[in-house]
Amino acid sequence: MKKLVKIVGFITLIGVSNVTLSQTTEIKVRFIGNCGLYITDGNSNIYIDFPYKSGAHNYMEYDLSELDSVKGNPIFIYTHKHSDHFAGRLVKKLAKKLGGKIYSPWNVKELLKVNDELKDFKIEVYKTKHRFSINHYSYLITWHNKEIFISGDTEHAETIATLKDIDWAFIPVWLLMDANEKGIKLKEVSKMFAIYHIGPGDKITNDNKDHRIKLLDKQGEIITIPYN
Ligand SMILES: [Zn+2]
Repeated sequence: MKKLVKIVGFITLIGVSNVTLSQTTEIKVRFIGNCGLYITDGNSNIYIDFPYKSGAHNYMEYDLSELDSVKGNPIFIYTHKHSDHFAGRLVKKLAKKLGGKIYSPWNVKELLKVNDELKDFKIEVYKTKHRFSINHYSYLITWHNKEIFISGDTEHAETIATLKDIDWAFIPVWLLMDANEKGIKLKEVSKMFAIYHIGPGDKITNDNKDHRIKLLDKQGEIITIPYN
């Protein structure tokens, strides 16, 4: 009799864990380097500002295996075409090999078509300014009701300041500094902030241990965003 109870328990346990698995839905953001991100919901694969030219402008290098691990039918989205964000030859090669599409400020209208192609997905585009770049865009991605802002290299906090209560904002540290200088409050803009594009020589610390700020100084780090 005792044995039977155990078996029933075991079966129940399997049932429960299966249910949990099928209900675990999340967006994963993997930090590759600089502003390079891999974002997936498990079905579609989006790469932001990657591939770039490894080590360009004394920013982060990445392992060549990163290029080999790019998934099928990738969607490559670029904020601008500086070489620490964009490597034209590499991305064209990958897109050709894997059936990928490439979007940048130069075909931003085409990018809006992705809204119809992916499930529960919307991308909004913001023309933003960046020194020495004639064409720079920031993006707000809403995927499965989670809002993720991709700032890119812009030095101006006015655009992000128009957002409210989004889930994650990916911003460089100079955007925080610009907001501070201008008295722009970012507190209510986003629940979480990821600081990216940290250079190997930069010393950036989260002194107040603000749990809403995540420093992306370790390549390969993964942020998970669960959704219902
Ligand atoms: Zn840059």
